[in-house]
Amino acid sequence: MSINLILLGPPGVGKGTQAQILEKKYGLVQLSTGDMLRAEVKSGSELGKQADEIMKSGQLMPDAVMLEIIAARLQQPDCEQGFILDGFPRTVPQAEGLDKMLAKMQKKLHAVIEMQVDDGVLVKRIAGRFSCKNCGTVYNDFFRTPTQENMCDHCGHDEFNRRPDDNEATVKDRLAVFHQQTAPLIPYYQQTGILQAIDGMAEINNVTDAFDTLVAQYS
Ligand code: AMP
Repeated sequence: MSINLILLGPPGVGKGTQAQILEKKYGLVQLSTGDMLRAEVKSGSELGKQADEIMKSGQLMPDAVMLEIIAARLQQPDCEQGFILDGFPRTVPQAEGLDKMLAKMQKKLHAVIEMQVDDGVLVKRIAGRFSCKNCGTVYNDFFRTPTQENMCDHCGHDEFNRRPDDNEATVKDRLAVFHQQTAPLIPYYQQTGILQAIDGMAEINNVTDAFDTLVAQYS
């Protein structure tokens, strides 16, 4: 059976890290809207130019644009195996649009996983974050450095990326945006009965164990 999940939580809580683990372990597809927008920025498209400005400011892209992007992506055949939405929805209108879209596609959301963490920890998590330029594996100066210095554990590559919006000033804006615009999704999904909370402050392995228990409920 395929499982469709949403990872919900503030920037830096570890949604991307856990989504990558779930993708490898269970063959689910990670749908990171942030990654999709960064690819647009890199390609130099009109959408990318708009996204670049907004992302640097820590604000959100318009709901209609994000709904269009995600609708196109969910129609790709690889999503049949199950998907993990990472960074989407981020507002109540996005969640409402997603509900309508999934109903039309006769797809179901199995669980929304709220990853909880203190804001204080997040700044460190985000400011220390970097990833492998080749395979995207995520590391952190404070919490998870490559086993061998300057070499990716996963693919052996020696070049890494830091996101331009991962700086202290932007992080504070992104956290404020999360509390104002994304946190209302918690009561939204609570009402539907599919919301489950996970302690995002735990060690990565413990968070992964909590996900395994959760996924087992739906397999
Ligand atoms: P992320 O990689 O998920 O932290 O996203 C980086 C940035 O991309 C965010 O700060 C927003 O500017 C933009 N973004 C990503 N996903 C969305 C979304 N669902 N709605 C609006 N903006 C988004």
